[in-house]
Order: sequence, then structure tokens, then C-alpha cells
Amino acid sequence: MIRIVSKLLLGLLLRCPNCGRGRMFRGLFKMEPTCPYCGARYERQSGESIGGTLINLCVAEVLSVGGYFVSQALWSPPLAFQLVFWITFNIVFIVLFYRHARGLWVSIAYLAGGVYADSDTGQQYTRTEKQ
Ligand SMILES: [Zn+2]
Repeated sequence: MIRIVSKLLLGLLLRCPNCGRGRMFRGLFKMEPTCPYCGARYERQSGESIGGTLINLCVAEVLSVGGYFVSQALWSPPLAFQLVFWITFNIVFIVLFYRHARGLWVSIAYLAGGVYADSDTGQQYTRTEKQ
């Protein structure tokens, strides 16, 4: 259980879940294909990032809708204020949490056995595929 939580935390903190040392992202949106330390490939197929996107959107919607109802119950602010605030919050949150959601998804993939260093045969397959 501690291992699972620590691997998920590594993903949230944008570190390689395999070794804990390599950074997953270069800049705000560019994910490294492999870990610079252990060589673990973060995503094996294009489209795997959809899991991180789904996490990002779900967390943003839960926080926005939940925040709307909590603030409505506590302070009853005007509807226009609520809409502007929570729509803005939603957009900002999605942009800022994007990397962390993808990192979390990579950790989930790691725990499921899908994140590991390429073997020699895997690299040959990739090379012959490109020719
Ligand atoms: Zn690594």
C-alpha cells in the first residue's frame, strides 16, 4: 500500500515512477518520451495521454461544481459572480494541473506494468517500423 501511494505521489510530483529521479516534463506541456536516468518509456502508444486528460477534467469538474454548491450554501453570492469565478477557476486549474494529471496517469500505468525501459528487441522493432 505504501509503495502504491509513493509511486502515485512520484507521478503527481512529475518524477519517474520507476526510479524517482528523472523529471517527466520539459517546460509546461512537453513530456519527455523516456526517463533520462533509467530509460523507462512513459507512454508506449500515442493516445495514452487521454487517461491523464480524463483525470484532469474529472478533478476540475468535481472541484468546480463542488465549489459552486459549497460557496452557494455558505455565502449565496450572485449567480453571475459564481459563473465567472468557477469558469475561470476551471480553465486555470485545467492548465496548471495538466502535467500533474498526466504524471499521475503514468504512475497508474507503471503500477499496471506498462512503464518500463525499452528492451533491445523493442528498439529494433521501432527502428524497422520507421524504415
Ligand atoms: Zn526513471
